Amino acid sequence: MILVRGTVVTMNPDREVIGDGAVAVTDTTIAAVGRYGELRATHPDAAVSGRAGDLVLPGYVNGHQHLTGDRLIQSTIPDDLAPGESIFTWAVPVHAVHTGDDDELSATLTLAESLRNGITSTFEAGTVAHPERVVAAAERLGARLTVGTWGWDVDDGPFAGPVDEVIDRQRRALDLSTGDLVTSWVSLVGHDLMSDELVVAAGDLARERNVGLTFHLSPTTGDVESYLGRTGSRPVVHLASLGVLGPEVAIAHGVHLDDDELAVLASTGAAVVSCPWAYLRLGQGLSREFRHFDIWRAGGRLALGCDAENAGDMVDGLRTAALFAGLAKDTRIDPTAFGAHDALELLTIRGAQALGVADRVGSIEVGKQADLVVHDRSRVEWVPNSPDPVLQLVWGSDGRSVRDVFVAGRAVVEDGIVTTVDIDDLVDEAVAAGRSLRARSGIPDAVRWPIR
Ligand SMILES: [Zn+2]
Repeated sequence: MILVRGTVVTMNPDREVIGDGAVAVTDTTIAAVGRYGELRATHPDAAVSGRAGDLVLPGYVNGHQHLTGDRLIQSTIPDDLAPGESIFTWAVPVHAVHTGDDDELSATLTLAESLRNGITSTFEAGTVAHPERVVAAAERLGARLTVGTWGWDVDDGPFAGPVDEVIDRQRRALDLSTGDLVTSWVSLVGHDLMSDELVVAAGDLARERNVGLTFHLSPTTGDVESYLGRTGSRPVVHLASLGVLGPEVAIAHGVHLDDDELAVLASTGAAVVSCPWAYLRLGQGLSREFRHFDIWRAGGRLALGCDAENAGDMVDGLRTAALFAGLAKDTRIDPTAFGAHDALELLTIRGAQALGVADRVGSIEVGKQADLVVHDRSRVEWVPNSPDPVLQLVWGSDGRSVRDVFVAGRAVVEDGIVTTVDIDDLVDEAVAAGRSLRARSGIPDAVRWPIR
């Protein structure tokens, strides 16, 4: 047993915060939560991790993350491209030449950054060619992962195919689930790239196997218009009419939703994952209406995501939470509308609820998985400590103050360093792989201010 010491922000139903508290961990699970002195007295032989001044939280939940494709060309796609160009001129050609080695290296780097910033649960976005290699990366790192694979049958991009072939590939990906740290879900690329036949078959498969279903939907206004032209209905309304939407569905984005679509989401229980940095980097119109706030206010199912390294770029849940909180206040011109505590809920327990994993993660409660993040509050950005640690966590800090991270009771980050993989060893490999990918994919060489 180990005692993880600090001020414990439990995120339990009463939102208890325990000053000089501790979390007792036995193997993979949380055995007790309470005051440090009391737990120490009842477990005198337990090892102790951390200090009284630390802040202990449940591991953060990232509901939408591309683990391949962007990482090896991170922050390379210009931020002043026309809508769609970043995907079809840059991301798709890179994905098309991604090898298994590229996939594993990309996922290793992204998951290492995630853990380093306190993200213990990652939901992959469904754009992986070699999911078994991404699973290998997650297992090596000790990260908790839900992974998908390519699924689309409209247009002829990489890994697109007829419905039967796509569903077969999805079935094989589902078999990669270890039922432990790594699970998988059915994943389609997006509402404009899937036929009705495919999405219905995918929904049937998800229900048959009792797993989630995810796809991208309406990040831009143009997505809605093309869908209206094809089906006569807005995307969420049409998908509901096909019987696809239910509580097992996690829709990535849903930036452009009308009132009818919000009502359908509420009645079907389908969740939305908001990746605000992506919409701001790509100029997609989130702040114009910010319907994600309406979903939250209505008690709907909502999670946060960090998306991709060319769409928000940094994989840091706290940075995402702070941005979401700021957008909520500012778009409503109402500082009382939403706050740091609400944002932390989305990053932990409410995100876990939206993604159907709250029985195992998302809060510090006895019997749950011991996924814990420890922030060092002696760092300069934390000094002096605020009386409200959550306010300071969301507004005044970010992943840099994460010192230790546990996933299922295993220390995967210690003193700010990932323990399970030596990242320094991968630097040369990442540089070479990135150079090779840029050459093989034929993406443009675009540097705004050329370096002499
Ligand atoms: Zn995405």
